[in-house]
Amino acid sequence: MLTPDEKSACILIVDDHYDNVELLKVRLESWGYRTMTAGDGLEALQKIESEPPDLVLLDVMMPTMDGNEVARRVKQNRALPFIPIIMQTALDSTESKVEGLEAGADDYITKPIDFAELRARLRSMLRIKRLQEALEERERELLEVNEKLRWMSQTDALTGLDNRRHLSERLNEMFEHAKRLNEPFSCVMCDLDKFKSVNDTYGHQAGDQVLIQLAQVLKIEAREIDRVGRYGGEEFMLLLPGTVLDAAVTFAERVRKHIESRTFTFEGGSLQRTASFGVAGWPHPRITSCDALMKSADDALYVAKETGRNKVVRFDSDEFNAHISVEADDGAEPSPGEPADDGIRRAG
Ligand code: GH3
Ligand code: MG
Ligand code: MG
Repeated sequence: MLTPDEKSACILIVDDHYDNVELLKVRLESWGYRTMTAGDGLEALQKIESEPPDLVLLDVMMPTMDGNEVARRVKQNRALPFIPIIMQTALDSTESKVEGLEAGADDYITKPIDFAELRARLRSMLRIKRLQEALEERERELLEVNEKLRWMSQTDALTGLDNRRHLSERLNEMFEHAKRLNEPFSCVMCDLDKFKSVNDTYGHQAGDQVLIQLAQVLKIEAREIDRVGRYGGEEFMLLLPGTVLDAAVTFAERVRKHIESRTFTFEGGSLQRTASFGVAGWPHPRITSCDALMKSADDALYVAKETGRNKVVRFDSDEFNAHISVEADDGAEPSPGEPADDGIRRAG
């Protein structure tokens, strides 16, 4: 009876003497194993690579390529799974056993072969192989779970876009990269206009559908190298590497038009919506950090909301400065580019 470890195990018998191969083959098959055979080292290697067996019973002394060399090559081949090798040594010398083990053999047996011993060694090696396989399977599962967790920690569940945390990390990296290479870099903030009324009128689920479809629009409009993320509830951020401020404004204008002309659908109806945009870009004398870049885009978005919505406002444009200086005169707003407590100003 075969133990579960041994079930359907396939053993490759390698020996340059045909009689030895036949003898082992008959014996192994009588124990219930499947067998493959090879008459020299090269043939053994070919068979191992094309159809990896569960174990190799390998003769050491063979012409052309000896067993030690076969073992070395098998163990060096990273494409192969773990295949136990039991070396058959004719010489009962410590030296030849050590050489075989160092070449990569996992166990050895001396010739003439004692079949009771062979059977015990086969079982032990096959058991180790199964344990090794179970370990590898666990490792694979763990890697998969880790990958899924990483994805979840970086992704907004509703839209599938980068979430705020991931976006902030990307912003930091991309800004540093742009500075290092002295390449332009722009940031666009986009916020749906009067989105609260979508929820109020059509329900939260309709609102969710609009957000999902808006995310698709942004993805379609952005290039492969841009990052698109959901920054907050109905606020999105786009990071545009290698893009000067002018080009970013043109891009935002295109997205604005796309949204304006788009019909959003949900179960039981459809609606149209507009969005407002704030755009900032590096290099700019007042933008010295990624936080300043993001805040400048946010300030510009605020001005877009304040001055009518469904529009693109560029940081440090005349319109931006006129609006911000009026607010600064009122004492209600800090000057642009400076850090400020945010969140309250844009409510509405
Ligand atoms: P404004 O033009 O000034 O941006 O007005 P607004 O109504 O879009 O902005 P406000 O900040 O007042 O409201 C945003 C709304 O977005 C309120 C909140 O319920 C809704 N919201 C945020 N996240 C989600 C979401 O995941 N799903 C849905 N359905 N609604 C959301
Ligand atoms: Mg809004
Ligand atoms: Mg908002």
